[in-house]
Amino acid sequence: MINFNVPPFTGKEMEYMKEAVENQKICGDGSFTKKCNEWIEKQTGTTKCLLTTSCTHATELAALLADIKEGDEVILPSYTFVSTADAFVLRGAKVVFVDIRPDTMNIDENLIEEAITERTKVIAPVHYAGVGCEMDKIMEIAKKHHLMVVEDAAQGIMASYKGKALGTFGEFGCFSFHETKNFSMGEGGALLIRDEKYIEQAEIFREKGTDRSKYYRGQVDKYRWQNYGSSYLPSDMNAAYLYAQLELAEEITKVRMERWKEYWEQLTSLAEEGRIELPYIPEYCTHNAHMFYIKTKDMEERTRLIDFLKEKGILSVFHYVPLHSAPAGIRFGRFSGEDKYTTKESERLLRLPMFYKLTADEVEYITEQIKAFYR
Ligand SMILES: *Cc1c(COP(=O)(O)O)cnc(C)c1O
Repeated sequence: MINFNVPPFTGKEMEYMKEAVENQKICGDGSFTKKCNEWIEKQTGTTKCLLTTSCTHATELAALLADIKEGDEVILPSYTFVSTADAFVLRGAKVVFVDIRPDTMNIDENLIEEAITERTKVIAPVHYAGVGCEMDKIMEIAKKHHLMVVEDAAQGIMASYKGKALGTFGEFGCFSFHETKNFSMGEGGALLIRDEKYIEQAEIFREKGTDRSKYYRGQVDKYRWQNYGSSYLPSDMNAAYLYAQLELAEEITKVRMERWKEYWEQLTSLAEEGRIELPYIPEYCTHNAHMFYIKTKDMEERTRLIDFLKEKGILSVFHYVPLHSAPAGIRFGRFSGEDKYTTKESERLLRLPMFYKLTADEVEYITEQIKAFYR
């Protein structure tokens, strides 16, 4: 059986976790957390990185920092994971969904302006499959209308748009290190902060509303309750696990890219015959092979293909059910304009197995079965 996902494991995780335990600092912000933060700052070029307990929590921090209040509006795609919406809805915001582009499955940058009202505060683009949204245009719109940008870059580590790392364009960027992502710590994430002015408040929100981060650095002689906040810092044991993977990030990405290209090459003939569609990567986007998907004719064909592959021992899965048609989406949001592609394209998309330990032989077997299905 070829699984859809196998969490990455490189070999050094246990050693580093043992080290974290022996350091007798297994709570948050120990030495491995620092190493991860510094690694991400260096790799992405962001001003400040704070490791968090999840990407969902990183987005909640961003919503707190953006000072989202009851009745504010946040613009995002409907084709995304619930967390992009949840983080803002928790602060009382209304989520305004904008249609996606059928080629990249990212928010259609040309439809954002129509969705802006006087209550709009944030644009939250999602870099689907680690392929960058049109950030030049999005940042231009944000500047013109004085909006903040929170990037859901959960799938976007090690990927870039015009040479700049995803997650570093907006005021805030959010990474995920969930076990289904390219690098993992079980559950975890990171908040990327672009402007220095937000760092102090971010540390306070993340540390239960206290200035404990300053205290740890010896900048104050006691820490006190400064503001509302929550607990968003992960255990150093989890950070140790992640650090083992970040050290091998280049290698992991290289291997994933090889598998991605094999899928692409072996399925090109079917795409040329018009039987399926392959992902589109704009030439100025460097992706990270987070995902390999194909698009079938429609949902009915996709269901048959999933069943067929399952019989052949291959687990393939579909992805997001659009948020605007889900119960909470109806309650907390509205769709701006016409749903031309969100529902239609989401019903055609099928994700194929993609993980670090996937072999070239397995990719070949999978693509052969897909070809057999269409024959
Ligand atoms: C995985 C994912 C999240 C959530 O990440 P967690 O770390 O599980 O909170 C949010 N948005 C997108 C687009 C994701 O793929």
